[in-house]
Amino acid sequence: MLDTWAIKKTEGTGNSGKSLVARRGDERTVVWVGDVPIGGDDAVVMAGPCSVESRDQVTQTAHAVKDLGAAILRGGAYKPRTSPYDFQGLGVEGLRLLREAGDSAGMPIATEVMSEDDVIVVCDYADMLQVGARNMQNFALLKKLARTRKPILLKRGPSATVKEWLSAAEYLLHGGNENVVLCERGIKTFDNSLRNTLDLAAVALVKEMTHLPVVVDPSHATGKRSIIGQCARAAIAIGADGLIVEVHPEPEKAWSDGAQSLTFENFEELMKGLSVPLRGVVAQPGLAYSCM
Ligand code: PEP
Ligand code: MN
Repeated sequence: MLDTWAIKKTEGTGNSGKSLVARRGDERTVVWVGDVPIGGDDAVVMAGPCSVESRDQVTQTAHAVKDLGAAILRGGAYKPRTSPYDFQGLGVEGLRLLREAGDSAGMPIATEVMSEDDVIVVCDYADMLQVGARNMQNFALLKKLARTRKPILLKRGPSATVKEWLSAAEYLLHGGNENVVLCERGIKTFDNSLRNTLDLAAVALVKEMTHLPVVVDPSHATGKRSIIGQCARAAIAIGADGLIVEVHPEPEKAWSDGAQSLTFENFEELMKGLSVPLRGVVAQPGLAYSCM
């Protein structure tokens, strides 16, 4: 299996032919985000708004999700929007508000970095840097992030094959950053019933192929609030190391991704649904976990 995708040795590149992301035996990497381990025995839930909108919105959300069991606060300050007329994020002010909210709730924070130019400032504020789906193959960004050593949440590109996704991760490891968490967030297929198609088989496959932790984003994968809880449970059952979920105090008023944002009550339901022993129940025997 590993040989079918392993990066091929190329003359003159210094590549020994060995893939750094490939799994060897039972080896599993644990990535620490602040004091939170991703890839260990417990599934980790990251939650928060799609975009940071105001101090009140992000602080309220941070405390609500923390009280309900989330370990890491997510929130976008730099937003990759399809239309240039849509809200583009608060930028540095958003980073400040997210940091303040995380500190106030006692949570590390994860946020997207879209451009090489913003890497330093995002590193100054964030505990984990997200490479968004649309930037998965922004190789200049990956090379710069590799030099930071900060934990990276590498989202799968909407049309990326597993091989391309793992090759993007390889850029980070090759550049010196081993703190990589992969994130399946749905891909484009012929079916447009949902925002994307959640590829849970890829989660099982990638867990088999690499030693890196893999989390699932059921919010962007579906775009539909009512089925996020079911997809979250399925993700944990198949062996994902965690989830990243969008939560907003008033989703109908959200400046981005309202239709897929959970209310605090919805999030409470989701967390209750994860409290039964699901962890890896359908994972491959050698890869299964004891319990949540
Ligand atoms: C997000 O996390 O808000 C986001 C834009 O994600 P993706 O890159 O997966 O679309
Ligand atoms: Mn979003």
